[in-house]
Amino acid sequence: MSFKLKIWDHCRYVTNKGRPYDEMARHLETMGKAGITSTIIYMPEVISLDDYCRAAKEAGLAVEARIFPAWGVEDPVLRTLPPAEWEEMEKRFGIKLAGTCGNHPRNRAGFLAAAEALAAEYAGRIEALHLDFIRNDNALLLADSPCQCDACQALYRRYFGCAVPSKEMLRDPAVQYKLLALRNENVRKTVVAMRALASRHGLKLTIAARANYVNSPDITSPPVWGLGPAVLEGQDWVEWAEAGLVDGICPMNYHTDLALFDSVLADHLRLMGNRKELLFSGIGIVSSMGETTPEGAARRLELVRNAGLPGAVFFNKTNVYAQEFLEVFRRFAG
Ligand SMILES: [Zn+2]
Repeated sequence: MSFKLKIWDHCRYVTNKGRPYDEMARHLETMGKAGITSTIIYMPEVISLDDYCRAAKEAGLAVEARIFPAWGVEDPVLRTLPPAEWEEMEKRFGIKLAGTCGNHPRNRAGFLAAAEALAAEYAGRIEALHLDFIRNDNALLLADSPCQCDACQALYRRYFGCAVPSKEMLRDPAVQYKLLALRNENVRKTVVAMRALASRHGLKLTIAARANYVNSPDITSPPVWGLGPAVLEGQDWVEWAEAGLVDGICPMNYHTDLALFDSVLADHLRLMGNRKELLFSGIGIVSSMGETTPEGAARRLELVRNAGLPGAVFFNKTNVYAQEFLEVFRRFAG
């Protein structure tokens, strides 16, 4: 069975932004020689997707265009809270997290229009659309402070009979259920529409997924602030796989502790059952969770390959891989 290696790329190695082609071509050629067969390019940082597609083709790499629910959306509706709640959040977690509200229909409409234009222009040059942040950040912070934008308030009025659920109501399992059901339903609507859109243009649909789906080991303290659980953020990727909505799932299993990496990987295998051919395990080289050594990358690749998965995806904040990593990749590719 073939074992495919992919990278998440951001073009951070390009210094000449006016003429990025040569540096893109050099980087992708290096990655191709190391056995990487696909690159998942982050659209806000690509500089020129035309140049990038040309460089990737030259190097023999397939391109997946990585987009997220606020991408291409004019004036997206962000998670809305009164000032006192923002202060409370900052006091408790050291961060104010105002991501795009997944419940707001205007966000979805804007995103789908942008994705449609991208697919129409680049079908044939890209292989897939890759959804990132296809969730409502962040599980830790959502439980106590659900969004209060106009669309969310309309939902609360209908289901709870008030514009904003009180702290006491938020402890009621029935209210918690409905908040989660609405969040999951609305993120899912975007995925369903993206599935149809991608298929219309002959493209695959892949996603970056939370490594912690429901109860995997996680890091819930700063500066990481929780990596899930996915189901609390409206990202039920196991159900999406069951429903045939996605062609590839890349869980961001960036644990620097090998035992944790292994246990989270085991969870993914159990969860996916007979659909593990969709799983490309994400491996962190340098991420918010820390760094992995070339030997650590090799150990992880061994575990992923031995589990019978079709491949792995590397995340590296710098985008640049030392020779020792390239040698490891080459050993596993193919
Ligand atoms: Zn909202």
